[in-house]
Order: sequence, then structure tokens, then C-alpha cells
Amino acid sequence: MINNFLARRTCRALCAAAVMTVAVSAAQAAEVNVYSYRQPQLVAPLFEKFTAETGITVNTIFAADGLIERMAAEGRNSPADVLLTVDIGRLAQAKEVGVTQPVSSDVLSANIPAAYRDADGDWFALTLRARVIYASRERVKQDSITYEELADPKWRGKLCTRSGQHGYSLGLIASVIANKGEAAAETWLQGVKANLAHKPSGNDRSQVKSVYAGECDIALGNTYYMGLMETNEKEPEQRKWAAAAKVLFPNAGDRGTHVNVSGVSMAKYAPHPEEALKLMEFLAGDEAQRIYAEVNHEYPVKPGVKASARVRSWGELKADDISLSEVAKARAKASELVDKVGFDAGPSS
Ligand code: FE
Repeated sequence: MINNFLARRTCRALCAAAVMTVAVSAAQAAEVNVYSYRQPQLVAPLFEKFTAETGITVNTIFAADGLIERMAAEGRNSPADVLLTVDIGRLAQAKEVGVTQPVSSDVLSANIPAAYRDADGDWFALTLRARVIYASRERVKQDSITYEELADPKWRGKLCTRSGQHGYSLGLIASVIANKGEAAAETWLQGVKANLAHKPSGNDRSQVKSVYAGECDIALGNTYYMGLMETNEKEPEQRKWAAAAKVLFPNAGDRGTHVNVSGVSMAKYAPHPEEALKLMEFLAGDEAQRIYAEVNHEYPVKPGVKASARVRSWGELKADDISLSEVAKARAKASELVDKVGFDAGPSS
């Protein structure tokens, strides 16, 4: 891999004077440029540690939106080496629009299970988040659940969720399509819609607030929001929402709970590919895995690295290990199904 990088760098140096300048400056001061959809406070502790260990400076650009588009627009002149993002939809999009390059690394292959990395090496998951049920401690007696059961009429008027077109919902619906087929997924989604307490709206946390307020008994949400609510000092009322709900991990008894990921890609025109690879491998290492997962109450993707005590306190995650590439492929179909069944119009339409 490194030989390829060197060959390419030589080619660039010969071919374009402007790029040669970049190669020369890279040789003088080791650095790596990260485009991050993830917030600074989530990655800063890791980058500090990486720099302390390797002497490589990490330059960062943070944005909530538009980084992939920016990389595409910058093309060959993009300074981006590494893209950090969340959601399989975004990782698949980055590969699709051609802003990533395949990476082959024994460390990444050994540390990241095959289901959670791209077969070509264009993206690698770094953390997992599970799409779970927040169930009322007061009104829900059962301690296990399946996604299939969300369509059971016993939950009529008792389920809250955000929009079916949100990436988190699309990931879950796509995983049902990938696991059970399109026809079964459509019937299921109709049943889930019929059980909605009201029109899908708000974010994951507001669904838990609705459980607290008695508007619904069960709600769909990502696991890390439990941590963010439980530890919320700015809005302490969120602690009450969290305390009103218990986490149920759907399908713990069969295929496992649907997980989505945060992940990393090497930029197609990375000016510092060796440093980029070092950073990617660092992020997949034991220590970084533990820290990265802990700051946002997520699960390390590397088997054998423990989640934080708080995350473990919600129960045990058995993650659905269906290939996330398969799930990503079903996203467009999931979006069509959401429209077809009129999911976002609410229960009575
Ligand atoms: Fe989120």
C-alpha cells in the first residue's frame, strides 16, 4: 500500500508543479487534514493523543453538512486526507460520488469486522450505535422486543418515532428490507404506521420526552441519546425523560439489533496518504476505540474493546451483523416505502 502511495506521489511530483509543492511541504512537517462531520469535542481528545504519539499534526475542518460536496467540488485540489462522518448513508454516498479511495490495511481488516467495513476498503466503521426501543418503565412490563413486534396491534396508538425519511429511520427500514425482503418490509411498515401515537416529528430525544409525558409507551431512538440525556447538565429536565424509559434491544434473541455507524474514509486525492493511513489505524486501535466510543456513549467497533460502564448499564448489545453495504443498498427502496405507505402522514391517514 505504501509503495502505491509513493509511486503515486512521484507521479504527481513529476506531473504537476503545484502538487509537488504540497508533497515537499508534507515531507517537512508531517500533517494530516481531516474533514469531519463529527463535532470537535468528540474527536479533539483523540487527535491530541495521535499527535503526541506520532508527531503528526492534525488539521481539521468541521461542518454539519456539505463536506462531501465540498470534496467533490475541490476535486484533485482538495486538501482533505481523511473524512470522518456518521451514518452508513453518508459513507456510501462518499464512495458513490467518488471522493474516497480504497485502502488495504491488515490493521483495519483485523480490527474491524467485515460487516462494518466496505468490501473495497472505501470506508471503515469506527463506532456503532444501536437503534433501540425506549420503553416506559411504568407502563411497559416486558423486557424484550423485536422490530417485527412494533407492527403488532397491541401497540396501537402507543409508538413514537421521528420522520421515516430521517437517515436513522431509513437505516432501520433498509435493514428490515435486507433481512426480510421488500414485500415483508412494506407490510411491516404499514403495521408500524398504524401503531403511531401521532404524526412522526421531532428528533430522537423528543420521542423519549413523549414517553415521559405519557403520549406513548414505546419510542425508537439511538442508544447514545440515553447517555446524552442522562448526563445533560444544560437541560437537566432531559434526565427525567431518560429516567422514565428503559432501553430494550430489539431482536436480541435472533438476528440482533440494527446498528448504524460512525466511520472513516481516505480521501481520493489525499495529499498525505501515509499519515492518513496512520490516523485511520490509530482510530481502530484499542485505546482510541475506547475513548472515541466513550465520548459519545457509543460502542467500539473492535471486538473485545468494552463499551463504557454507562453504556453497558443499559443492557447487552447483540448487533445485527448483516453487511452494512447491503443495508446501504436498500436505503433508496426504504425511502420509497416510507412515501408509499404514507408513514410521515401519521396513523390515521
Ligand atoms: Fe444523532
